[in-house]
Amino acid sequence: MSENTSIQALGEIFDQHQTFALMSHMRPDGDAIGSQLGLGLALEAMGKTVFYWNEDGLPDSLAFLPGSEKISLPPAEAPEIDVAIALDTATKVRLGEGNLIAAAKAKLWVNIDHHISNPRYGDVNYVDATSPATGQIVYEILQHLGMPLPDGARDAIYVAVSTDTGSFQYESTTARTYRMAADLMDRGLNVGDINAKTYDSHPYRRIELLRALLNTLELTPDGKVAHWQMLDHLRTDLALKPEDSEGLIDMIRAIRGVQVAVFFEELPGGKVRVSMRSKDRSVNVCDIAAQFGGGGHALAAGIRMPGPISDAKQQVLAAITAAI
Ligand code: 5GP
Ligand code: MN
Repeated sequence: MSENTSIQALGEIFDQHQTFALMSHMRPDGDAIGSQLGLGLALEAMGKTVFYWNEDGLPDSLAFLPGSEKISLPPAEAPEIDVAIALDTATKVRLGEGNLIAAAKAKLWVNIDHHISNPRYGDVNYVDATSPATGQIVYEILQHLGMPLPDGARDAIYVAVSTDTGSFQYESTTARTYRMAADLMDRGLNVGDINAKTYDSHPYRRIELLRALLNTLELTPDGKVAHWQMLDHLRTDLALKPEDSEGLIDMIRAIRGVQVAVFFEELPGGKVRVSMRSKDRSVNVCDIAAQFGGGGHALAAGIRMPGPISDAKQQVLAAITAAI
């Protein structure tokens, strides 16, 4: 495992190269897209050429972010680039095959992330697991290096951190996080407007999904584990997009007495996606996920594992019960 580089050394990499491909994980969330735009728009303001790639493209829910139209699928043929930068991506595989092909000509791989499970797969790594969001790391890099912070980067960084902290609520939120938010507001961020666009603008089908999930909700007899499931047919029945389930797990995480919330999702190929949230430091869901090849953070982690969903449920719930 290679050591973290310094922010100064990142600055030298930015100075000494011209063309950058910024990438984030599949099924991107606010922190993934926000970190790409935050760093990318700053690099563009320095005169750099920036590509913004995501294996699954831009979710509709983040299309309000200025500059988000720059996010594209990775091109089939690898263009000439100097530096590939992975943001908010716990393992290189989670970038997706298309990204790896598109970035094949990179001379240098940089890995900027906040997942404690990150194996530091870059040539250069900057992994800060104390940061609640990769967006906050991007902000600190821009600040430290005195890089430009265009309005689009400002908004993107705010959304990155807001979405990864459950609107500045999770215990990963620090005084630095609030100081950052205050600084972004001093720079003209319209907090009411951006929060409304992030949180009060869901498609109706998301609430239909919530209704269907609630019908599957179960609580373990001790009341410590709440879980629900989504079968694959719902995807077509409700014309769902991957981002529609984003954040719904917080509903059952919020049940009094619940320590761990789990969302089981049957994927089209028959695999199962497991999403876990812990409310209790003594139950580390990243460690539980790692038992099944997944990862993430102590209080929020995920797995992609073989189905059928009934087997996946049995195994994961047993591991959680053992951990509690
Ligand atoms: P979510 O439940 O929101 O999909 O993910 C929670 C956290 O776990 C995120 O930080 C995410 O990066 C991580 N995570 C989710 N799924 C996987 C997975 O399949 N493998 C790994 N290594 N991490 C995951
Ligand atoms: Mn993140």
